[in-house]
Amino acid sequence: TNVLNLPITIIEKRDHIGGNCYSEIESETGIEYHKYGTHIFHTNNQEVWEYINRFTDFNTYRHQVLTTFKDKVYQMPINLETINSFYNVNLRPFEVNQFLQSEIDKEEKLDLNSFEGLAISKIGRQLYEAFIKGYTLKQWKTDPKELPASYFSRLPFRTDYNESYYKSKYQGIPEEGYTAIFEKLLSSPLIDLKLNTDFFDLKDSITKNDLVIYSGPIDRYFDYCYGKLEWRTLEFEHSTISHDDFQGTSVMNYADVEVPYTRIHEPKHLHPERNYQKEKTLIIKEFSKKDDGTNPYYPINNEKNKNLLKEYKELAGKEKNLIVAGRLGDYKYYDMHQTIARALEVFDEIRYKIVDGQFD
Ligand code: UDP
Repeated sequence: TNVLNLPITIIEKRDHIGGNCYSEIESETGIEYHKYGTHIFHTNNQEVWEYINRFTDFNTYRHQVLTTFKDKVYQMPINLETINSFYNVNLRPFEVNQFLQSEIDKEEKLDLNSFEGLAISKIGRQLYEAFIKGYTLKQWKTDPKELPASYFSRLPFRTDYNESYYKSKYQGIPEEGYTAIFEKLLSSPLIDLKLNTDFFDLKDSITKNDLVIYSGPIDRYFDYCYGKLEWRTLEFEHSTISHDDFQGTSVMNYADVEVPYTRIHEPKHLHPERNYQKEKTLIIKEFSKKDDGTNPYYPINNEKNKNLLKEYKELAGKEKNLIVAGRLGDYKYYDMHQTIARALEVFDEIRYKIVDGQFD
């Protein structure tokens, strides 16, 4: 069985459900947008796909990203079209590596454990400086030399003309939007939802026998006793434009460091199946900031934070009726499908322990 039939209280500080996946309709244009940044669902995980499809159908949206560098638009991720257009050459796929290698060979020793070192070793300095360096600096407010190489590995690099962002087997945007998923997920009489409620105001009233699944920042749970983990947050600036289509695509990145925002979202493009009005469109500029602890989005996985995380995890491990999970709890750069996979894993763990009588 995948149901435990136990009463649950959900405590949410914000005035809405769904966390950072929350979507809503913008009133002037009627366009559905993702309040905390564009979320594209994609996965290769069959179990996750089947699970999420219990709550929603997906449309046929396939993600594609473009980037603007010095007033010219290029394809992202970097692929053969990007390379040929940037260098004004006409390489074939089998010629790309040698072409870039002659540039990479000019480099002094590269630190392959750093974001910058790995990036230059893969695509050469010129492409790196045009499409990656400025964008990454704006996004992380951290010198790319200090960032983990794994962040670069998130980004595909292709020597063919494939411009689709993800290679996942399953992809799309929920037809009724993300919020509808959470409404369905929570529509059980056993679930008591408390919005506008800070967990820490209630913490003392939680009895010893209650199992707590905490998905907030792990350092906050322990009152920052070892110090604060660092996060990056986003800010958004909305405007409506009197055109049917502003940029022709859902996400346009801006690579130049002089442009203050990292990207512009145009959520109309996420739902090609909907009959949105043609008179107006909504655009959303995204700005990246270091977080002051109030609105964490992305973990910053450097050595200092990794060590801190380890200490907090040890503390959490000592509390018998506590499970810490989620992007903020695990301090991990999860995509949606990874968050779901982790939640299903946690559920199995709980079920096993309850059957086994391991909780008080
Ligand atoms: N990145 C970049 N230029 C781009 C897009 C991405 O340099 O045009 C880098 C950036 O450092 C980013 C990483 O690649 O953190 C991963 O990008 P992704 O789009 O996965 O970031 P997310 O959508 O999660 O913010």
